[in-house]
Amino acid sequence: MALIVHKYGGTSMGSVERIKNVAKRVAKWHKAGHKMVVVPSAMSGETNRLLGLAREITAHPDPRELDMIASTGEQVSVGLLAIALQAEGLEAVSYAGWQVPIKTDSAFTKARINDIDGTRVLADLDAGKVVVVTGFQGVDPDGHIATLGRGGSDTSAVAIAAALKADECLIYTDVDGVYTTDPRVVEEARRLDRVTFEEMLEMASLGSKVLQIRSVEFAGKYQVKTRVLSSLTDPLIPLETEMRSGTLITFEEDETMEKAVISGIAFQRDEARIAVMGVPDKPGIAYQILGPVADANIDIDMIIQNTSVDGKTDFTFTVGRGDYAHAMEILTSKVQAHVKAEQVRGDPKVSKVSVVGVGMRSHVGIASTMFRTLAEEGINIQMISTSEIKISVLIDEKYTELAVRALHKVFELDRG
Ligand code: ASP
Ligand code: MG
Repeated sequence: MALIVHKYGGTSMGSVERIKNVAKRVAKWHKAGHKMVVVPSAMSGETNRLLGLAREITAHPDPRELDMIASTGEQVSVGLLAIALQAEGLEAVSYAGWQVPIKTDSAFTKARINDIDGTRVLADLDAGKVVVVTGFQGVDPDGHIATLGRGGSDTSAVAIAAALKADECLIYTDVDGVYTTDPRVVEEARRLDRVTFEEMLEMASLGSKVLQIRSVEFAGKYQVKTRVLSSLTDPLIPLETEMRSGTLITFEEDETMEKAVISGIAFQRDEARIAVMGVPDKPGIAYQILGPVADANIDIDMIIQNTSVDGKTDFTFTVGRGDYAHAMEILTSKVQAHVKAEQVRGDPKVSKVSVVGVGMRSHVGIASTMFRTLAEEGINIQMISTSEIKISVLIDEKYTELAVRALHKVFELDRG
């Protein structure tokens, strides 16, 4: 007997029919003797609908009130699921985040979980109940409802699993696992049986949208055994089969397994590049250029500073495309004159393509294979950044698919 957390996404909760299927699946696990906690998302489209209502009133609604509104989507889901579980003959009870309580900070619309008190849930589990807890939300120190940001139910589920010391957290979604790359771009993309938590973290931050990145951070920090799997299978498939399906996020590199050097190719299309050129090369320049951008809450990603020629240097970095206009505005209106830059240039149509794999630690030559492959396709590399387990390049957006396909092939990710 184990303590298991299931998380169901919006598609899995998308209709009363689907909610009944979720209940059947959970009932199957419960009947096999497991203690079950279920964390559902709002029904698909519901969070957008709710937030849309507020934006019909004003373009910049109060974040505290937005959380009050958005959190109701999950509240409907847990109530419906508890009723569906009861209809399956189980004892079930639903809780909103504040009733558990799941304690967060006060950063409305992007709150972070500080602590979860598992006492109440554990008592219900001991009494034989299935406990259904709202995803996406908690309560701040002053008792206000706070949500965790879009896609936050993944993080709720993993955090609850960590707090309850669950044996496994299963994330049911509309894809059947984590793939070597986006199957919409590369038909030969394969599902990975396992991926290490560090690879998953890189892939999530590099644009693979399977899990909210904070949930992966939680899984890593608290060593929560987490599996991503499909909710679209027959809910009554044998438990043994289901337990081994999907992709398991692991914590150590499995020595016994013949492991591919590269696990996946991630890409992010909506990047923009900005170059501040001909700046005097002296202490404080990086800070004077990037400080004002960071102060405007704009995330900066890749950064390059060239070696100086004649005491002058070029400083290039990337931001999300949504922040491009704002960043350019700050640089041309405030920074350029201040740092005495000759010019500020930008390109809003670039994308970042990354190869990820823990195998890189023990293999040399990955970077040169990557660069050669791109060269053979005639793709120019504009910037490069690396970590221990990934290499990212910035390229012209129009070559994204070509680059991803070529790299997927050269690293033999289609072979398994
Ligand atoms: N319902 C929320 C959203 O749509 C949270 C989630 O689904 O994870 O972002
Ligand atoms: Mg999601």
